[in-house]
Amino acid sequence: MKIAIASGKGGTGKTTIATNLACSIADMGKTVQYLDCDVEEPNGHIFLKPEINETQTITISVPQVDAEKCTGCGKCGHICQYSAIICLKGTAMTFEQLCHSCGGCMLVCPAGAITEKQKEIGFLEIGTANGVKFGQGRLKIGDIHTPPLIKKVKANALREGIVIIDAPPGTSCPVIEAVRGADFVLLVTEPTPFGLNDLKLAVSMIRELKIPFAVVINRSEPDEQLTNQYCRDENIEVIFEVPDDRRIAEAYSVGKMIVDVLPDYKKDFVGLYKNISKRLEGTQRNKTT
Ligand code: SF4
Ligand code: SF4
Repeated sequence: MKIAIASGKGGTGKTTIATNLACSIADMGKTVQYLDCDVEEPNGHIFLKPEINETQTITISVPQVDAEKCTGCGKCGHICQYSAIICLKGTAMTFEQLCHSCGGCMLVCPAGAITEKQKEIGFLEIGTANGVKFGQGRLKIGDIHTPPLIKKVKANALREGIVIIDAPPGTSCPVIEAVRGADFVLLVTEPTPFGLNDLKLAVSMIRELKIPFAVVINRSEPDEQLTNQYCRDENIEVIFEVPDDRRIAEAYSVGKMIVDVLPDYKKDFVGLYKNISKRLEGTQRNKTT
């Protein structure tokens, strides 16, 4: 079961929900993995404090041009959809940051002047944290190949067990790459006009991807109406509300988990997992009948 935790904007508490959910599931004795796909700024490790026992360098293939062989025909530049290779003054030039590793330029080069080389885009770190299998991607500073790195992090997802994917914030390509293939998405939001605006964008994105989802309201007030009303109007379930509790904010500020500082919340996170699990079982049953 893959559960992605996403949000339309940063700072909503997405990682708080993802890490506490992972720990609570592990406490139930289940096999659970937390994958931090917010590779530009992974911060799940601050709360889970994993022991990292493996680091892999992640690379992608980019073209390199042999100027001696290049005839300046320009065919590589014509096929590249991303302007990652262009032919100027009779020689091809590459722009590795724009390359999507499709290999098209190599295929069309009539002079055999283009070969592949590996470019480092970041790292995958694997470890464990209190019974949770941990994985995180870290994009190299200055690199922009976020989706390929997320793809590599997700390639390490467990085949058996529960996988919690902590997606990047927003609604752009990296988020789509992170939530793609998830069985269920939790959209974490905060009850503010800005939060609601970004939630609406995130809802449109997830509906487009046709993935079952529900909303979690973080820092919710007892009589919260803004987000709840929108969700009622849109027929979206608010599956969990985390109260605006000063003790939670204090725990967060010093990198502590809610379930460690306030163990009573563990039953709420377990309830959240069971709720999602029941829905997915229902969906599965409907598919087989
Ligand atoms: S590999 Fe594809 S994306 Fe990269 S430069 Fe060649 S054609 Fe462009
Ligand atoms: S297709 Fe090959 S020969 Fe033609 S410009 Fe590009 S690198 Fe040079």
